[in-house]
Amino acid sequence: MTTTIDLIEKLKSNIDQELLSRFEYLDFVKYHFLPMRVKNNYYYIATDEKKFTNEGEQFVKSVIGENEKYKFISLSTNILGQLTSWAKKGLNVSDKARKFINKLKQDGLNSPKKMLGEMLIEAELITKDQLNECLVISKQLKIPLGSVLVQKNYVTIDDLREILTFQTGKSFINTENLKISKDVLNLLPEGFIRLHKVIPIHLEDKNLILGMLNPNDKRALNEVVYLTGLKITVRLMTSQEFENLLDTYFNKSNKETLDIIKSMEEEASFEGGESFSELIEREIKDSTGSVAKFNTKIICDAIDMGASDIHIEPRFEGYAVRFRIAGILKEVLHLPPRVESAIITRYKVLAKMDIAEHRRPQDGTFSLKYKNVSYDFRLNTLPVAGKEKMVIRVLAPAASISSDDKQISLIGGSREDLDTIYKIIASPNGIILASGPTGSGKTTTLYSILKNLNKEEVNITTIEDPVEIKIERLNQSQINKKADITFASSMRAILRQDPDIILVGEIRDMETLEVAISAALTGHLVLSSIHTNSAAATITRLIEMGAKDYLVASTLTGVIAQRLVRRLCPKCKEKYRPTLEDAKLVVSDSSKYEEFMNSTIYIAKGCEECDNQGYKGRLGVYEILRITKDIRKMIARNAIELDIEDAAIKAGMITLHQSCYKHIIEGETTISEFLRVLGPVND
Ligand SMILES: [Zn+2]
Repeated sequence: MTTTIDLIEKLKSNIDQELLSRFEYLDFVKYHFLPMRVKNNYYYIATDEKKFTNEGEQFVKSVIGENEKYKFISLSTNILGQLTSWAKKGLNVSDKARKFINKLKQDGLNSPKKMLGEMLIEAELITKDQLNECLVISKQLKIPLGSVLVQKNYVTIDDLREILTFQTGKSFINTENLKISKDVLNLLPEGFIRLHKVIPIHLEDKNLILGMLNPNDKRALNEVVYLTGLKITVRLMTSQEFENLLDTYFNKSNKETLDIIKSMEEEASFEGGESFSELIEREIKDSTGSVAKFNTKIICDAIDMGASDIHIEPRFEGYAVRFRIAGILKEVLHLPPRVESAIITRYKVLAKMDIAEHRRPQDGTFSLKYKNVSYDFRLNTLPVAGKEKMVIRVLAPAASISSDDKQISLIGGSREDLDTIYKIIASPNGIILASGPTGSGKTTTLYSILKNLNKEEVNITTIEDPVEIKIERLNQSQINKKADITFASSMRAILRQDPDIILVGEIRDMETLEVAISAALTGHLVLSSIHTNSAAATITRLIEMGAKDYLVASTLTGVIAQRLVRRLCPKCKEKYRPTLEDAKLVVSDSSKYEEFMNSTIYIAKGCEECDNQGYKGRLGVYEILRITKDIRKMIARNAIELDIEDAAIKAGMITLHQSCYKHIIEGETTISEFLRVLGPVND
């Protein structure tokens, strides 16, 4: 008996990628067809039995040729839909990958016994150097080679899928909109799923679709057959996708959430006489109803898990909720279409937004008390693909910085780092910059410094976007693009208010930089942040923005470049002896390899305490450049970035790499965090 799954698989294997690539994905959606292949001079075109029209036929012929011969195959909407979304992935495959595979197919090689790396090099998708580099990382971090290559941007996920599909003879599953029913999931015990990295996905008749990381793991396969008694069809998945599924289905807090969603759906369906929209209307206004409870639960979970942002974003079906925790986005739950609008609308009500407006981005804020601490949230919506994406920024509680505590605290910073900072802020005027990407802890550092400078006898004014942390005695203001209140314009206004110290959220343009420089020249201390990669690069950036080098030289007093790495969970971290390959990744001086290889460091493992992450909390990595007289001269003489950096290192500056290396040696973080955040040392 042929099941639908078998049929779809057969059809997939008959799709000619080259023919497919003559069309755009949107053509398939618009006209409801999918080209299959050419056989005996006939073009085989799969079509939707109900929706494919004459217009569609004309379109297909206009692309392939009026005089060709065609066979149109009618398929159900369901089957064609599945084929089309599968084919969508194929369209992203590059010509190089496609040509390579076509050539192998012509040579009659199906599923050749070649290593993945070898194939990628032959296809000219990566270089030998890239392969070697990734092999080392792959081994070190215990991440499959393919994942490393994709993370490094050496090969696209679509090309990788294409090559892997060919290499293993198995096709990939699309996990994006995957929903696994409880019954299917329960076919295998959770421990088994985690151990063997397999996951039951779909069951039809006696045929089980099984997601697998390693399709060559015959032992695992045999055990699945033994445990379930089912016929197995294997689908490949990437390790990232597998981890996401584990999170979605086995995270405890998610289970609770799923229960709430279920009860919301049940409530919704049991109300008689009321339309669903009326019900939603009532629910979102009711602050004790299950929608409100649910919204609050998402927020509280985010706080409990230490998330900095909550992303609620549309998928093809329903919405996904993702938390950014320690800088990394993690999917925590999926909202079914039935409840999505109620939840989005409820947040808009909370943030006092226009709930009828769906087409324009909106901003709003709201506060919520949780465990006796008041939290502020900044929320904004963005229309995407006919729906609204929502991001909620969790702002640090206002109470967390008291004005009495004058100590500067740098999480993960050394005694020397602090000393340098105290030296920098000893100067009563000038510009101090914190540099690094978004989420690198710049704001926290600047506030910590501000806290120290916050004294009775000085006037401190801030211009922020938005005010993230409230501190007593500070005059904190906020920019407002709609009202044309920018960093530059409010700074000019503030300078008339007789300030001593000014904090400007960020220097993004020459206008702001210009005002900052003139403020520093007239005796003010200006603190700000900037998006640059290193301390020395910040100087170059200021000059590139249009500042005169002699003005940068005379006003800049210090740059604090920083990043955040995850801190190892002290409960479960595992001892590890670094290899030569490891040393090459993190030690810059080859004469120090030996020393590193003789030290005991740690790798992440995962336990209950750390929610199986292996990490808990974060640590700062700092590169602090104090602008000394010598460096001032170099800037004024227009010295290049590298020379400034070398001079600073000679004068004792610790680089980001060295600072992170120290954390590794001290058993606080791992080589993989080093590589994730900073990249290999000799790049
Ligand atoms: Zn742990």
